[in-house]
Amino acid sequence: MQFSDFGLDPRLMSTVEHLGFSAPTEIQQHAIPAAMKGHDLIASSKTGSGKTLAFLLPAMQRLSKNRALSKRDPRVVILTPTRELAKQVFTQLRMFTSGSQFKAVLILGGENFNDQVKVLEKDPHFIVATPGRLADHLKQGHFYLNGLELLILDEADRMLDLGFADELSLINKAADHRKRQTLLFSATLDHAQVNEFALALLNKPKRIAIDAGHTEHKDIKKRFYLCDHLDHKQQLLEHFLKEENIQQLIIFTATRSDTERLSQVLNELGHDTVALSGELNQSQRNQIMESFSKGQHKILVTTDLASRGLDLVNVSHVINFDMPKHTEEFVHRIGRTGRAGSSGDAISFVGPKDWLSLKNVEGFLQQKITFDIVDGLKAKFKGLKPKKPKVANKAKPSTKKNVAAKAKPRKIVKKSFVGTDAGEMPVLRKKVGLQEREDNEET
Ligand code: AMP
Repeated sequence: MQFSDFGLDPRLMSTVEHLGFSAPTEIQQHAIPAAMKGHDLIASSKTGSGKTLAFLLPAMQRLSKNRALSKRDPRVVILTPTRELAKQVFTQLRMFTSGSQFKAVLILGGENFNDQVKVLEKDPHFIVATPGRLADHLKQGHFYLNGLELLILDEADRMLDLGFADELSLINKAADHRKRQTLLFSATLDHAQVNEFALALLNKPKRIAIDAGHTEHKDIKKRFYLCDHLDHKQQLLEHFLKEENIQQLIIFTATRSDTERLSQVLNELGHDTVALSGELNQSQRNQIMESFSKGQHKILVTTDLASRGLDLVNVSHVINFDMPKHTEEFVHRIGRTGRAGSSGDAISFVGPKDWLSLKNVEGFLQQKITFDIVDGLKAKFKGLKPKKPKVANKAKPSTKKNVAAKAKPRKIVKKSFVGTDAGEMPVLRKKVGLQEREDNEET
């Protein structure tokens, strides 16, 4: 199949040709014709599969072919869970709107509210936004959605996981008319709240399941290394920085403070490193992402803040310094490399505190994970044994044998699980839960 088979407007086709893509990706092949026919869609597609273009092309086509329902209201609203992803979608959208009569704006939390009011007053055709801030403007009557023609929810599962159900419902209600088309994209369709939402928002949707979220990305080589403690992880990291042919690298840590600490250590060791964490204000975050995506730094250390959607074509390696807390984040993290057909390396460090997460990832990927070893850096840690379920046996009289069994000391392996990884203190882990929404989104 070719892009020319879609019957796109010639101006759109010339932009696609300019982008130099030889053929539509699988999600594009399915989603573009269905969306161009006016169907609502619920689509799953793995990260980096070209889904942005899968919704931007039908959106642009619709606007260039159909008359607007309203002169003032936005015609297309695209919602994403994170500011970074919104910016990336906006950049792709601008390639199509610049030089056209269509105005596109980006509305993100953390940026000046009054400036956004002025921008909204100019009656843009497209709004790309994070849901919290857009809902605030809507509540205050800075724009209306009676004329909205297309509502696009990118990474709907993530938006719902981040707690934006109310904001999404508000936006949906404000644009509740039968001419509206809705396209919902989600990493997985196997998500109860997404399905519930789909029922409420979508009208007889076509279901497109290209790749379940857990499908392995063939172009990404995954390696796992057992680690004893923080120092061991750092030694392994230094080894890979020396031995691997790294173009650009993203390192994921468990917490913001780990991100700060590790980037400081790496800079002290002479590696050009930047840290991206939710503590930074929006313009600092923008600046870091921009300089990293331009290749001005070799290493980016971050939490799951940068795990989704970001399209960074020169990232040859991803290192999970700590395994992710939420299993599906593993797929999103490693999807930062191996973008659009190029290959990538994903290296994961697995210490005692990462073990549970590793087992969950194993179940999620539906494959047995084996460990690689670096000569001279082999871990003593060999994994944790699954806990035996407690058998209630109150009636059993205490014999010499079972009293002795009770008195038996615990295995050392289990003891080391309770916090030898300095820098990953349990208290810090707990904080992550509280920080998470702040890390990933605006308010
Ligand atoms: P996305 O999944 O939308 O983040 O896209 C991932 C990457 O794939 C981006 O760099 C896109 O520019 C690129 N891309 C989108 N469509 C195609 C295509 N048909 N052929 C090759 N690359 C593409």
